[in-house]
Amino acid sequence: MPTVAIVGRPNVGKSALFNRLAGRRIAIVHDQPGVTRDRISAPCHISEQPCTIIDTGGIGATLDDGFGAAVTTEADIAMQTADLILFIVDAKDGITVIDEDLAKRLRKSKAPVQLIINKADNEKQDLLTGDFATLGYGEGIPVSAELGKNMHMIADAIDKVVEPLNRDIEEAEQVVKKEGLKIAIVGKPNAGKSSLINAILKDDRTIVSDVSGTTRDAIDVPYEFLGEQHTLIDTAGIRRRTKMDSSVEVFSSMRAERSIRRADICLLVIDCAEGVSAQDRKIARIIQDEKKPCLIVLNKFDLFHPNAQKSARLEEATEHVRTELFFLAYAPYVCVSALKKQSIGLVFSKLAEIRKAAQNPITTGKLNRFLGEAFAKKPPQAKKGTKRLKLLYATAAVNDRYTAIPVPTYILFVNDKRLMQEHYEQYLTNRLREDHPSPGIPITFSVRSRN
Ligand code: GDP
Repeated sequence: MPTVAIVGRPNVGKSALFNRLAGRRIAIVHDQPGVTRDRISAPCHISEQPCTIIDTGGIGATLDDGFGAAVTTEADIAMQTADLILFIVDAKDGITVIDEDLAKRLRKSKAPVQLIINKADNEKQDLLTGDFATLGYGEGIPVSAELGKNMHMIADAIDKVVEPLNRDIEEAEQVVKKEGLKIAIVGKPNAGKSSLINAILKDDRTIVSDVSGTTRDAIDVPYEFLGEQHTLIDTAGIRRRTKMDSSVEVFSSMRAERSIRRADICLLVIDCAEGVSAQDRKIARIIQDEKKPCLIVLNKFDLFHPNAQKSARLEEATEHVRTELFFLAYAPYVCVSALKKQSIGLVFSKLAEIRKAAQNPITTGKLNRFLGEAFAKKPPQAKKGTKRLKLLYATAAVNDRYTAIPVPTYILFVNDKRLMQEHYEQYLTNRLREDHPSPGIPITFSVRSRN
């Protein structure tokens, strides 16, 4: 969803404005340290267009080194996360030094900046507003958050920016719907990729003859499942069809790489009777590096200790992969036999589970509450002679809004990113996984310092 950020020095009325835009009952909250993180983000209610409004004023308030630092941090966060910035000034106070600093800083913003002159409660203050043009953002919109005056003008300014963004998102959603889920079927030679595709297509090879686009790396096989369109990216089929010589096998992981990159999700097929090999690990690393959703398919399960008890077999097979591919811990497993067409339905029910979780991403408000609690429960330890890591604000960014399974990167704005230790990031990852399970989806943090 597009994001609108409110930026301004303390006491210009950011929280009152935030409440107005969020359609909340007005409790006039004066800017004060320690405000609740609930105030940080909410759906915008005054605009016709769906968008999220964030109040950066709740963020810098937790800093202990003065207004100036807090305000510049807020501006930086807004510039990195928002599609539109509402720059708030105070009609009663006129232009202050901090306003001028902010105006200068916001000049670097890629997102448009709309100047809002708050506390223009009466005619006389309306007249004063001309001065603010010297900040370099035009005349500005005179409003009174307290009285609810001219809110429609802010709504129009928001709609103008957000409407085309929402239109793009909607168009992309249509394309995604048409193309369906792009599923790359990858794995080392002989893992059973072709057999899996055959099992999925139920040997109905006429479907394969309708192959639409082919690339040198793979064959795209359209496949409809429960009325929904899917594209199977078949990295095995090309070898069969063109009878390339075996030296080409060396390049199979390179081919897999390109297929992985354009897929929404990867099915990593592993021959569980043979166990995880170096080549499996190599392909798994590519999936991890590309931050792709993944489902691990343990194939040839019929050959895996066939005489043992099923539950023990399942446990042993998954335990082995879990250890060998520990870095792909986010990927769930299914045990199947492609040859015997056993448990193929599980692949699709797991895919559905992964998609469902991806469609309910954690909201910014929840993310900040959750991380606030995680930090409080186990505060980061400061190394000798250094400061303690402090979290200012977190938000989820999606690299590509236009895919069937969007993968978020959690951006953490902190006092100094050098203070983030690997084990602490791991702790946050584990907690987030427990608290907000998203099977198949990788968790990535991007840690940024203010300034
Ligand atoms: P690909 O190179 O990954 O496409 O692998 P194939 O699908 O060609 O399979 C390689 C070999 O393993 C073939 O002889 C298949 O019949 C066999 N195979 C594939 N899946 C299974 C399975 O689930 N169980 C058993 N027993 N054999 C399998």
